[in-house]
Amino acid sequence: ETLTRFGRRPEYLLQMLIALQEHENWLPPEALTTLAAALDLPRARVEGVVGFYSFLHAEPVGQYRLLFSDNIIDRMCGSEALMARLCHSLWLAPGQVSEDGLVSVDVTSCTGLGDQGPAMLVNGRAIAALNEDRIDIICELIRQKLALDAWPVELFQFEKNIHQRDALLSCTALPGDALRAAIAVGRDAWLSQMQASRLRGRGGAGFTTAVKWLACRNAPATEKIVVCNADEGEPGTFKDRVLLDAHADLVFEGMTLAAWAVGARRGFLYLRGEYLNLRPALEATLARRRAEGWLGASIGGVAGFDFDIEIHLGAGAYVCGEETALLESLEGKRGTPRIRPPFPVTHGYLGLPTVVNNVETLAKCCLIALHGGAAFAATGTAQSAGTKLLSVSGDCARPGIYEFPFGVTVRQVLDACGASDTLAVQVGGAAGITLAPYEFGRRVAFEDVPTAGAFMVFNDTRDMFEVAHNFVRFFAHESCGFCTPCRVGTSLLAGTLDKLAEGKGSPADLLEIEDLDRLLKQASHCGLGSAAPNPVIDGLQKFRPAYERHLMHADFSPAFDLDGALRRARQITGRDDAGAHLPQQPEASR
Ligand code: SF4
Repeated sequence: ETLTRFGRRPEYLLQMLIALQEHENWLPPEALTTLAAALDLPRARVEGVVGFYSFLHAEPVGQYRLLFSDNIIDRMCGSEALMARLCHSLWLAPGQVSEDGLVSVDVTSCTGLGDQGPAMLVNGRAIAALNEDRIDIICELIRQKLALDAWPVELFQFEKNIHQRDALLSCTALPGDALRAAIAVGRDAWLSQMQASRLRGRGGAGFTTAVKWLACRNAPATEKIVVCNADEGEPGTFKDRVLLDAHADLVFEGMTLAAWAVGARRGFLYLRGEYLNLRPALEATLARRRAEGWLGASIGGVAGFDFDIEIHLGAGAYVCGEETALLESLEGKRGTPRIRPPFPVTHGYLGLPTVVNNVETLAKCCLIALHGGAAFAATGTAQSAGTKLLSVSGDCARPGIYEFPFGVTVRQVLDACGASDTLAVQVGGAAGITLAPYEFGRRVAFEDVPTAGAFMVFNDTRDMFEVAHNFVRFFAHESCGFCTPCRVGTSLLAGTLDKLAEGKGSPADLLEIEDLDRLLKQASHCGLGSAAPNPVIDGLQKFRPAYERHLMHADFSPAFDLDGALRRARQITGRDDAGAHLPQQPEASR
């Protein structure tokens, strides 16, 4: 059935595995063997894909799979105590499957609901605003073995939490208005408008969108591809969730505008697995746009302007937010970032010229088509034209979505969201920058504080060491393992912070962190590895007492238990006398 639905195309392998798991609840070995044979792929390749994505399961899991969001903001809202309550009520421990196979509980990375946490996923479907009452209701529904579709619908409802609108969020254009305008001026003039707008990518890197589109248009190939990167996995960001929920037409129209510019016939929306609940409404919007003539053949009545969009799901891999990793994932492979050059604009999806743009970037293209590039460039700053959506979460009265012109100060955002006694703001997610109060006059803009949108607020009751510890564990978990410096370096970094958290750290560990920072920055293959130490390095510079509180009064304490590591060798050789152990050091001399 899965093969019939997707065809025997290896690039659909990930989508097939997701569909198969939906049906079987896990991925039995014989199903993987059948799939590998049908697609004429080595079984190891199929297994490799399953092993890469944290939402795919090669071992049996509970009929109800519960994953608590482990973002620092969810923790601040009490997620740990709620998970403990649920585990106690259902008689199991985190990471376990219940004896009857009914339920399994674990944690996952940020689920994109930081404005209404704590949050969890139940079989991939998100539930926000968890509290003790909701946990008790969920436990009861599980005990009754009620199918998920029969659970109260209000459990799966969310707030949009839009608190500040500017050009994008107050846009009232009807479907097709922006396309009509771009078609009317012609392809070349439309690209000139894009150039005049100075629009830069809103996914974080800030590359000029028109330059990307031009390179793709000029690439010698008959087929071009447009990809919308809706894999916002950066902890603390959720603005793409709200855009896809409240303004899906703008996003799809932006993709079609990109197709008009570059001459693409196929588009993909790569939707992060955590946003599974958005998929039915997105598919319905696509169907309506096809019926209205804004997707499909001869769009807007223009012969030869044919373009359509497919939705592909991710499966819980943060690194797939990196555009080349995303393309690998779209091709049904492990999401390992590619070596560049060549760049996706010339060699992207299946080797075809491809533009990959973020959700917000594409939605912004509609404003440019509607009002012109110059009008778009009239707001913002010299190097950052237009507005920026911020996902505000943490210690403030009104967490949610805020749209400001670029150049807004951190203090203005804090005032708008009702934050007080603020100790720090983490802008740009775990990979971003930690700002102390003396920096709150800095501006959100590519030339000062760049961000994909996450804006996490911490008041003066918070421990910034704990914040960085959470981020570093996140990176160690999300490292794709392709390159050794990142695979090992992020684990060592997490281990060092674990040691500090246990109160066993020494000043030498702080020096070790700086060494690891250098290693990761110099030798990592992609941005995940090089950014991983950022929160710790910022924390050491700006909140050093929070780290020093965890130090032992000793110069050195080993992070690696050498004597423990030799246990296996002692067993094998059958020698476990005192001489086979390392001498214990007196505490003072360590
Ligand atoms: Fe993978 Fe990390 Fe290397 Fe990036 S830096 S390719 S995430 S191992």
